[in-house]
Amino acid sequence: MNKTAPESSPAKVKFFSGENIPLELHKVRVVQKLNLVPVERRLAAIAEAGFNTFQLGTSDVYLDMLTDSGTNAMSDAQTASMMQADDAYAGSQSFVRLQSAVEDVFGKKYLLPAHQGRATENVISQAFVKPGSIIPMNYHFTTTLAHITRNGGEVVEILADDALQIQSTKPFKGNMDIGKLEAVIAKHGAAKIPFIRMEASTNLIGGQPFSIANLREVRRVADKHGIMLVLDASLIGENAYFVKQREDEFKTASVATILRELCDLADIVYFSARKVSSSRGGGICTNRKELFDTMKSLIVLYEGFLTYGGISVREIESMAVGLRETTDESVISQSPSFIEYLVGRLQALGIPVVTPAGGLGCHVDARGFLPHIPQKDYPAGALASAFYLASGVRGMERGTVSSVRDAQGNDILADAELLRLAFPRRVFTLSQTKYVEDRLHWLYQNRELIGGIHFVEEPEVLRFFNGRLAANSDWPQKLAAKFRADFGDSL
Ligand SMILES: *Cc1c(COP(=O)(O)O)cnc(C)c1O
Repeated sequence: MNKTAPESSPAKVKFFSGENIPLELHKVRVVQKLNLVPVERRLAAIAEAGFNTFQLGTSDVYLDMLTDSGTNAMSDAQTASMMQADDAYAGSQSFVRLQSAVEDVFGKKYLLPAHQGRATENVISQAFVKPGSIIPMNYHFTTTLAHITRNGGEVVEILADDALQIQSTKPFKGNMDIGKLEAVIAKHGAAKIPFIRMEASTNLIGGQPFSIANLREVRRVADKHGIMLVLDASLIGENAYFVKQREDEFKTASVATILRELCDLADIVYFSARKVSSSRGGGICTNRKELFDTMKSLIVLYEGFLTYGGISVREIESMAVGLRETTDESVISQSPSFIEYLVGRLQALGIPVVTPAGGLGCHVDARGFLPHIPQKDYPAGALASAFYLASGVRGMERGTVSSVRDAQGNDILADAELLRLAFPRRVFTLSQTKYVEDRLHWLYQNRELIGGIHFVEEPEVLRFFNGRLAANSDWPQKLAAKFRADFGDSL
């Protein structure tokens, strides 16, 4: 291992009081000042942003819980590694160090770099998806679906029937249903299926993991029919952490061993380094030279030369160190343990949240929170706007606004309407987490004041990023007035 390889520390420290409190196993050495603007400004800001939290500027945002993408805290070792970056168009030693980290952590020899996760999806889709292709997967991710359909393919989601139940005790809601997988292959024929895709810590259903037992079964079926298995490893560290927590066979295994076990089962592993290890970058890795050769000309065409792929060498260095740090349980447990804490507190207050607590963020169930708002009025988008108004905290809509329209122009109603409050790794403190809990509690008490929203500007592709919406009534003004009445001159 590289000299920057971390020492492993325990993930959880027990409290004498018996309280389940996530303990930070790091100290804060660089800080950034935050703004908490008054509710009147928040009311104006969310209207200016077209009731789309993507359109808010961070000068109006207190806690940015939009995403973990590119927002995890960097370690001292990552920052230091950037100073040894080797600037070269071709043959950079920074890339050699990244290759070696990928080989150690993911067990794959061949690495294709790309500027971020969706760029790897572009390359994989262009290389393997043809008009009429069927891509079975546990569940789609927004950019994955867009790239596959753009290349003429069709996505088939095959989770277990109860995986979309908001409140559940199932430890692995991200598992693929093997019976359904067999049925999809029987129906379409293996020849139409270029690959099966499994997504670690399934993002859109609440950061829910799959088990290694399930991945082995998927592999067995894939082998039987001669189909490739592709793993989206953007959130693989958290999935590995949950395997250790929830799958008996791996109770005493190291996170490094679990990561290898997961990746060994896939022909192609791709990832967004913005999530898994650094603030930029992505990659595709494999041990099969012919697959590497099929994809490499697309990297040169879209991303850059094979030893930088659109990423700066400094980022490549920090990706390498960050990837190794992903095997450290005390690092990888930080985000899931804060999420678990918040989910537990919200449940105790009767606020509907996705359970069990997953990776990535705390997911509030907008349909349970706002039963009076029909899905066509975008309850998750309304809740994201209302929560910003109540707190200055920016979450993300993961519901019908993040979905698409069918050929007739009707909304395809999302399976779940969620407000995602992301916990980028090692960024927020416990008191900030308690503030989130407190303001959500207030909002829940005042939920009947919240109304629906509608599109006023709607882009055709990935509309949730740049779309603009408006409130269906003056509910935002009423909510802001109630806030002022309850909180006096406090922000
Ligand atoms: C974020 C993400 C992507 C896309 O990665 P970007 O770096 O944001 O382009 C793909 N798959 C999953 C599961 C993700 O969470």
